[in-house]
Amino acid sequence: MSDKKSIAVLTSGGDAQGMNAAVRAAVRAAIHKGFDVYAIYEGYKGMIQGGHYIKKMDWSSVGGILHKGGTVIGSARSDEFRTLEGRRIAVHNLITRGIDALVVIGGDGSLTGANIVRQEWKDHVQELVKRGEIEQGLADKHPSIFITGLVGSIDNDMSGTDMTIGADTALHRITEAVDAIISTAASHQRTFVVKVMGRNCGYLALMAGLACGADWVFIPESPPKPGEWEDNMCALLKAGREAGRRDSIVILAEGAKDTEGSRISSHYVQQVLEERLGEDTRITILGHVQRGGAPSAYDRYMTTMLGVKAIEIIANSNPEDEPLLVGVQENDIITPPLMECVDTTQRIRTLIQSGDYDQAMSLRGGGFNDAYDTLKVMIRALPTNPTPKQRRLRIAVLHGGGPAAGMNTAALTAVRIGLDGGHVMLGVKDGFHGLIQGKVKEMEWMSVAGWTTTGGAELGTNRRPLTGTDYYALARKIEEYQIDALLMIGGWSGYQAIHNMYQKRGDFPAFNIPMVCLPATINNNLPGSERSIGSDTALNNIVQVVDKIKQSAVASKRCFVVEVMGRYCGYLALVSGIATGAERVYLHEEGVTLSDLQKDLDHLVDGFSKGKRLGLMIRNEKANSLYNTGFMAALFEEEGGHLYDVRQAILGHLQQGGDPSPFDRILAIRLAKLCMEFLITECLENRKPVSFIGLQKGKVDFVDMARWPEMVETGYERPVKQWWMNLRPIAHIMTEPPLDVAY
Ligand code: ADP
Repeated sequence: MSDKKSIAVLTSGGDAQGMNAAVRAAVRAAIHKGFDVYAIYEGYKGMIQGGHYIKKMDWSSVGGILHKGGTVIGSARSDEFRTLEGRRIAVHNLITRGIDALVVIGGDGSLTGANIVRQEWKDHVQELVKRGEIEQGLADKHPSIFITGLVGSIDNDMSGTDMTIGADTALHRITEAVDAIISTAASHQRTFVVKVMGRNCGYLALMAGLACGADWVFIPESPPKPGEWEDNMCALLKAGREAGRRDSIVILAEGAKDTEGSRISSHYVQQVLEERLGEDTRITILGHVQRGGAPSAYDRYMTTMLGVKAIEIIANSNPEDEPLLVGVQENDIITPPLMECVDTTQRIRTLIQSGDYDQAMSLRGGGFNDAYDTLKVMIRALPTNPTPKQRRLRIAVLHGGGPAAGMNTAALTAVRIGLDGGHVMLGVKDGFHGLIQGKVKEMEWMSVAGWTTTGGAELGTNRRPLTGTDYYALARKIEEYQIDALLMIGGWSGYQAIHNMYQKRGDFPAFNIPMVCLPATINNNLPGSERSIGSDTALNNIVQVVDKIKQSAVASKRCFVVEVMGRYCGYLALVSGIATGAERVYLHEEGVTLSDLQKDLDHLVDGFSKGKRLGLMIRNEKANSLYNTGFMAALFEEEGGHLYDVRQAILGHLQQGGDPSPFDRILAIRLAKLCMEFLITECLENRKPVSFIGLQKGKVDFVDMARWPEMVETGYERPVKQWWMNLRPIAHIMTEPPLDVAY
């Protein structure tokens, strides 16, 4: 166990949804380690004010805040903190409380400020001793302050982390708004110019453009040439109309400029469209809506992980250590040197301001550039290469498994990437059985219009396994339609079907074509990929419903047992448990015993008798077939007596429904593009791999289907190794209060 530390947590700069999750996580993780922990209210202003602005936190001070937008401990801008004297007062307030580490949740400005205090710490302390404001003994005990930084910024503008806190939620707000706009735009064949935040960073505009299937996007990193972009934009939108597109959506980042450095205003874009195309063009400025509302599932669980990591770093730090940023790379938490990240971020800003856009773009990183390249293909009104340089391939796309939000987005991307390369794209209705029945249609550019944003699966999917003669019939159809390559977008039964076809290649030569599986299932139970399309939407569906359930429960001292899907895979249960603050999660992977239930019951009785008002248990649908949801609810109700009552909620199919979340849409586009590039390359080079695409350890790769048997637990339809099982300790830390907790 590390030495006892005193830690202060603050939120600073612009607010962002998910900051509360970070504060809650840091406070509870610190208490869990036996540290003293303070919240500094109103950012650096509170650090200078001291007094009741710096409050010691206990377990329950951060209860009930996980689902709230903004920051409950407040954020303010402080000019006084920019002065030496202001920071000296701040140091006085910190040192007199024995605080030796800070968790700063803010943008690059706030993190720079924290680093300045750290650098000046010794001088301030010396000065405070000289002035007689603190004792030398106290100064000796606190020779420096250690800093960890979590980036709170809806713009996703920080280098060194894939995502900043709030960016995913902001994208939710934007996609909700643009989806709504698209339906009215389509009704009247109108054009909308939607302005989104992002003064120096085009992330929100770019990702919203992809996620909503926008027709034109302006971002600060890639300014268009004045006099030229107007013609290009109008030509493209006109071609889109001629191709049958009913809505036209232009997304504009607020910081967008042209190559001459002149700002591109929404009014000017409107004027151009109205004058040149005679389009009825409306402007929607989304403004602060993007900062508001409940945080998304991602901004709750990922941020919880960041907060816990910040405390872990502090526990293992030496006072003189350089500050670290706590960020993410795909699913992994990374801790690069804070000031390198801040410096690169500020450099990009300077590069944009000075017009060095190429350099700025390259510093944004591969993911941003890839997304921009993909966008340029996706916004086309028609394919650009109708005659391919090489062989024209016939590539079939089909689904397998249960429906998952994002299947349509992936299918649209695959079809358009294929058509753009000049290939023939065949859409197969109703999965493998549909192929056997000959439900195959040649897809056109506009036959997938609108699929980016819609839930369900337009091509149809089912989980019925293939048996006996199905394989012969399948082989015949592959030959009949002269299918050169196959893309299967789906879940377990789809993967299983492709695996079986792979194994039967000896019997059916028709299966000797390149085939690739793209993970799309809400269960997130596929090998080779840490995430599957649809699981983020399902998590958001669960989180939204549980928020409502919790509200009803808190009004009447109630405990809820909520059952979520996942079959034998506990991903949805565990991650939604972290995102909703459930106190107990039941997983098939861990099993459920009677003594577990007895312990949980004791916790419930103890908590409710001390004034607790709400209990939330989340149970995977197959956690234990005998101790089912009804049994657990009855047990807790009966044994809890008059202290509380218990209700069960089986969430059911709402988890599979709804339009895909922005995360699922973006992942679908990214993976489908890579799958198509893979299939086309392999096919043209006469190779015939069978693979599944995977997102693992921060990178995307293809895994050979030969590895399927060693990677899965077939009986339970889940991978042998499940990365998210590492998150179990976090769930425990967040919900197991110390024994003496008061409610
Ligand atoms: P963000 O953290 O979102 O980038 P700001 O740039 O407004 O937001 O910074 C928030 C606060 O951090 C400022 O009001 C100020 O108190 C402090 N701060 C920012 N930059 C500095 C700096 N260079 N020196 C000292 N304090 C700073």
